[in-house]
Amino acid sequence: MEISLEHLTKKFGNVYAVKDLNLHIRDGEFIALLGPSGCGKTTTMLMIAGIYKPTKGFIKFDGKVINNLEPRDRNIGMVFQSYALYPHMTVYENITFPLKLKKVPKAEMEKECKNIARLLQIDHLLNRKPGELSGGQQQRVALGRALIKKPKVLLFDEPLSNLDARLRISMRRFIKEIQREFGITSIYVTHDQEEAMTMADRVAVMKDGVLQAFTTADKLHDEPENIFIAHFIGNPPMNLIDAELIEEKGKLYLSISRNIRMRVPEKRRPKVFKKKVKFGIRPYDVEIIERGRIPAKVLFVEFFGKELLVLCKVGDKEIQVLVPAKLDVKEGDNLFIEFKESGFHFFDPDTGVSLCKG
Ligand code: ATP
Repeated sequence: MEISLEHLTKKFGNVYAVKDLNLHIRDGEFIALLGPSGCGKTTTMLMIAGIYKPTKGFIKFDGKVINNLEPRDRNIGMVFQSYALYPHMTVYENITFPLKLKKVPKAEMEKECKNIARLLQIDHLLNRKPGELSGGQQQRVALGRALIKKPKVLLFDEPLSNLDARLRISMRRFIKEIQREFGITSIYVTHDQEEAMTMADRVAVMKDGVLQAFTTADKLHDEPENIFIAHFIGNPPMNLIDAELIEEKGKLYLSISRNIRMRVPEKRRPKVFKKKVKFGIRPYDVEIIERGRIPAKVLFVEFFGKELLVLCKVGDKEIQVLVPAKLDVKEGDNLFIEFKESGFHFFDPDTGVSLCKG
């Protein structure tokens, strides 16, 4: 099923929860709605489910407007953060509940349940009650209950946030595999960028109800459309520094502080020239070197997973650098840094829009 959202808008009083959202989701695609708390992800999903009515705009399934279609007629399966299983029913009864409501014959119900339970690897648990299952198993039951209806669309709202870190990673892969197997168009709401980036074919990033970008994970990371995306995607976040561009004899130079100037690599030349820019460079695109042209003083060193995050003073600016933990750097060291050529990003300081896009 293809899903199109056209100028989709939802207002609560004077607040725009979602504003003029345009998204086209392909048949069988898995997309993530990603953004900080309150950005409008859940409201978007609830409009697609039919629980909220849009203030303006259209929701289309396979090209047909379905704004007025009742939720139960939309053929949607939903999986939430809280598994919302019936505690007094067995796994079998929970999974088959939607079919029971539709008065599907018992033999067919049993067959469908067995198939799905096998795929979800919970076929040995059919007689247990939810209270006797782990969080991951309960989430699989919830997924089974959504899948047994053979929905055309699957909506996930932060389904893994109650699980511990290891289980979350295995469930991510599991959900992705099941989604591929069934080929159901899926929308996955999360504020966890790693989850969105690893699972989704494309990620829609929202902020304050407004879509910021809708593209693949690598494009979001490598070619951020604006400062918000640049800062939101990637961990630790991109350094964003007030800087100036200087053109001399056809060559372009970047000045990040008095007397600190470097050539802008041809490949990373902004498409639009501006004198004042925000220069973006990711901490892992900065290297510490023995001798170089950019002197830096180490202000602070902290462990960041298996690496070190080093805060440096460069001229009057501060830059974070991610280096291997084996490197001997400590507070007060005077050293040199270098920017990887592929890591240069430029943004318009007024609008926040990338200057590197055509
Ligand atoms: P979270 O990750 O915290 O769930 P979200 O991105 O899903 O956030 P929404 O729940 O869609 O965000 O909310 C978007 C905005 O709309 C927020 O400012 C929120 O306060 C507001 N909002 C959501 N539901 C209602 C409601 N029923 N009445 C009034 N305002 C609402």
